[in-house]
Amino acid sequence: MAMKRSRGSLIVAVCTATLLTATSGGAQAPAPQAAAPAAPQAGRGGGPAPDACGGRSNTPREACANDVTRMIAALPATAPAKPARPRKVLVLASTSGFVHSSIPLAAKMMEEMGKKTGAWTADVTYDRAQITAENLAQYDLLFLDSTTGTFLDEPNSATDPAAKAKTDARRKALLDFVRGGKGIAGIHAATDSYHGRAGGAPGGAGRAGGGAGRAGGAPAAPPAPCTSNQTQGAAAGGDPLWPEFNKMIGGYFKFHWNYPTPITVKIDDPSNPINAAFKGKSFNTIDEVYTFAWDSFSRDNVRVLTSVDYNLMSDCDKGIESNRRPDQDYALSWVKREGQGRVFVNVLGHNEAIYYNNPAMLEHILAGVQYALGDLKADDTPVPLKR
Ligand SMILES: [Zn+2]
Repeated sequence: MAMKRSRGSLIVAVCTATLLTATSGGAQAPAPQAAAPAAPQAGRGGGPAPDACGGRSNTPREACANDVTRMIAALPATAPAKPARPRKVLVLASTSGFVHSSIPLAAKMMEEMGKKTGAWTADVTYDRAQITAENLAQYDLLFLDSTTGTFLDEPNSATDPAAKAKTDARRKALLDFVRGGKGIAGIHAATDSYHGRAGGAPGGAGRAGGGAGRAGGAPAAPPAPCTSNQTQGAAAGGDPLWPEFNKMIGGYFKFHWNYPTPITVKIDDPSNPINAAFKGKSFNTIDEVYTFAWDSFSRDNVRVLTSVDYNLMSDCDKGIESNRRPDQDYALSWVKREGQGRVFVNVLGHNEAIYYNNPAMLEHILAGVQYALGDLKADDTPVPLKR
């Protein structure tokens, strides 16, 4: 997604091949379950033209049929908790920044997952104007489907009082909805929202050049030294543009390892029912992998469920991260309380394969959403990082 993506992607491909070699046969490195689909993210970064199936078009609203078939086949048969009452979910897919091709597949997953397990029924909207107190009153959970940028805001909010009033009302409706006892769940770019430069391009500031320039060195060379001051969080991912949301969702984007980056996912909280499907075993996957502005994400604020096993990343991959986190903490899913409500975030989900290549991942999402709905009891007490 960075401006220099094509160059960065080439370098990353080399880096990640190194990682696969380094981890193959390792005790914590089972055979990767992710199969890279043909032509992932076609059309991005000057790549080949989008295919005709719709999901990978420039304005995706309908998932590719093959992806839907594979996703439905991977869905869990039953939910871990019985809903206390019929639950309604609103899937919001409005974006102000990058538009992920996986958005319609994630929305379809939420519809079909609820239908198959009886855990909820889902409506899907791409219209931010649907976020009103009156409309939200009928729902139990809001699912942020790779929203990016200032996804609730009216354009010109900075200069037009009427637009600002609409923006303020939507933001208040969302916060009140969650804090009043409802749930919110976010996937992937829900954490790439509301950061950047105030008055600048929404959500995108701070990304250009992230990693790409640093990746110019030979992959085998020692990691390039970080040039930015780690105490200046605003320089890495931009400024928090809606601090209450940034804190509620648990952090905001500063850098990603481009797709396809293989990682080993560590199970941080093996006894948590939201992690039951993983059976305490780490696993490999492939996706675009976010890192968060170092002072926007902290285990003091969230209870981490899964994270990147950073020790198994190659020095090359570590080296291309801009503004490296000093704590080397790269969470991938977490839960937290927000007022009387609950939050579940799953950071993986850039590529369509995340929604069908590992049934345990879908069970994890199902359980996390049921936690956020209030139906699945799970410990959400933050566990600070051991120092
Ligand atoms: Zn992405």
